[in-house]
Amino acid sequence: MGYINVIYDGHVQDIGDVGPFKNGELCGTTGKSKRLEAVKIWLETDLDLGIEYEGQIQDIGWDATKKAGELCGTQGQGKRLESIRIRLTGADAEKYDVYYGVHAQDIGNMNWAMNGERTGTEGMSLRLEGIKIIIAPKGIVMSPDTILKFMKAEPKPAAPVTPAAPVGNLYGNIICINPGHGGSDPGACGDLRESDMNLTVALILGLMLTERGAQVVYTRTSDVHVYLSDRPVIANNAGADLFISIHHNGSSDPSSSGTCAICYPESDAGIRLAILCLNGLYNRLGLQQRGLIQRDDSDVTYTDMPAVITEASFASCSADCALFQNGGAELEALGILDGILAYFWVAA
Ligand SMILES: [Zn+2]
Repeated sequence: MGYINVIYDGHVQDIGDVGPFKNGELCGTTGKSKRLEAVKIWLETDLDLGIEYEGQIQDIGWDATKKAGELCGTQGQGKRLESIRIRLTGADAEKYDVYYGVHAQDIGNMNWAMNGERTGTEGMSLRLEGIKIIIAPKGIVMSPDTILKFMKAEPKPAAPVTPAAPVGNLYGNIICINPGHGGSDPGACGDLRESDMNLTVALILGLMLTERGAQVVYTRTSDVHVYLSDRPVIANNAGADLFISIHHNGSSDPSSSGTCAICYPESDAGIRLAILCLNGLYNRLGLQQRGLIQRDDSDVTYTDMPAVITEASFASCSADCALFQNGGAELEALGILDGILAYFWVAA
């Protein structure tokens, strides 16, 4: 199952055409008192997946249903969009949810709507000013709020969710585990050393993966120094199917806590892997959700296979270290295992 890009552009009062935007970016304006007059929405996907939408237009009412790329609304008539509905179509629509959030006059950001629900100001004669749209695989995200965190990496505490038992085997898969840092490079330090935390989780995860039938390759299995540039090479030479780079975070603020993951923005498979591991870690550890970070980083940029860097908690945070030492290391490995199993087994 692939990751779906949703693209959209808009027509804004006094500005004209804006966009295209994608995957949760704001199309339109906020706080400028300018009406959104029209939108076009389309998808980038090879799947049997389409998108259709209707807008409620000032003085006109609900417009006819529009299909991917068609203009919904008006241009040059000075009429505001007031509400919108969006839904997915096609055989693969059952595997995905579409979420959309609007910014409305006098109201601000409204709650995310999904899968054909109406959002906006129907009957209140208020203008829409901006819209954001996201498409997410079903079962991977827990709520529209969570999706927003994935896209924007905005920290927000979340209650732990009772995790499902991981299912599936990994026979035939080669997985490279990279415990970050080591030897003369301890990484982030607090009550624990990051390099030790990384190695502990790596070895637990490696056993779990082996029990499921995977062949596991490590970049290190003891407290030794390995050059950063050599780590992707080890995975590439092994022909690994996935690269799991285990790190922990550090901050000068000892109260900083929580979970994030890093992936390479050009790899759809890597993004999917990272979201799944992030979700597994959120569910297992229940720490603050710091979201997905897409950026160039040696581990994820120079690996030939889908890759993720996990930062499950902070070595510089005493509470995170205490959790780690009281069952948290095992939960962390389980969370990453959940993500790996979901990568291969959930609706693929
Ligand atoms: Zn690190």
